[in-house]
Amino acid sequence: MLIAEGLVKRYGLCRALDGFDLTVPAGEIVGLIGHNGAGKTTFVEIVAGLVRPDAGRISIATLDARLARRAARRFLGVAPQELGLYGTATVRENVRLFAGLAGLRGRRRDVEIAQVLEELRLTAVADRRVGALSGGQRRRVQAATALVGSPPLLLLDEPTAGADPETRSALLSAVRARAEAGAAVVYTTHYLPELVDLDATLALARAGRIIARGTQEELTRHLPGELRVTFADPAEPELRRPTTDPGADLAALFASGRTPVSVDVRRPGLDDLYRSMAIAATEAGTEVRDAA
Ligand code: ATP
Repeated sequence: MLIAEGLVKRYGLCRALDGFDLTVPAGEIVGLIGHNGAGKTTFVEIVAGLVRPDAGRISIATLDARLARRAARRFLGVAPQELGLYGTATVRENVRLFAGLAGLRGRRRDVEIAQVLEELRLTAVADRRVGALSGGQRRRVQAATALVGSPPLLLLDEPTAGADPETRSALLSAVRARAEAGAAVVYTTHYLPELVDLDATLALARAGRIIARGTQEELTRHLPGELRVTFADPAEPELRRPTTDPGADLAALFASGRTPVSVDVRRPGLDDLYRSMAIAATEAGTEVRDAA
């Protein structure tokens, strides 16, 4: 369980976090999404104890992270956006170091290391130097250092950036397994289909705050889907329009006397949610930076 309340972080005039609140219960994967610069990484860095907030409070399980920064490592697995591995050490040595920081010792440590290497398909490269690995393999090693020992809180900041489909799928399975075993997971990504695969709940960040929080269904159901109809009429072979009430729209279409050849209703998805954030930000006069 993670509770963050009222976090503020300033860099000069920039308010990277501006009253950021987020609660992540045990067993839940929260997809933390938002445009570039919304404050996601700053939040992860603060929870990980890498950056000190100007205001606000964080609790991890029953531990106050401000008071017990060192002890917090036992509760926390972190895969930061910028890779933090030892290039001259082997994969196994890197994972062993983090297993030690997580409080694992002796035979249990070796078993957990072997397990996470297998889970992330790293066994074959376990004794190679990290500096000699491909980018995707390094990402997996970084994830292994976070997942080893199954800490009750995981902070994964774009863990699959640049990963191939096989790497992605191995990592998503490992994350799902940790949540099923009771871990609270914060997962940031710009690749939204991952959050569907993870069945994550969502937290939408904008300008240093969480502006919406809920399940995918709760956050998308009010958005328009899309009605697509094709006709035999060569003058207008296809009609596409946003719809919040496909039944009523279809009834109106049939009443107009036109006969569709095919009808498809696309339910609103996470892309629509993301787009609606961009529209809302523009309407509010907020600068949208590099919307992904
Ligand atoms: P992205 O999706 O690009 O990873 P993000 O949501 O993770 O973005 P942050 O990296 O948290 O965003 O950045 C939030 C804001 O804080 C940005 O305007 C950024 O320029 C600023 N910022 C972050 N770290 C620093 C720093 N060390 N010094 C100065 N400004 C910073």
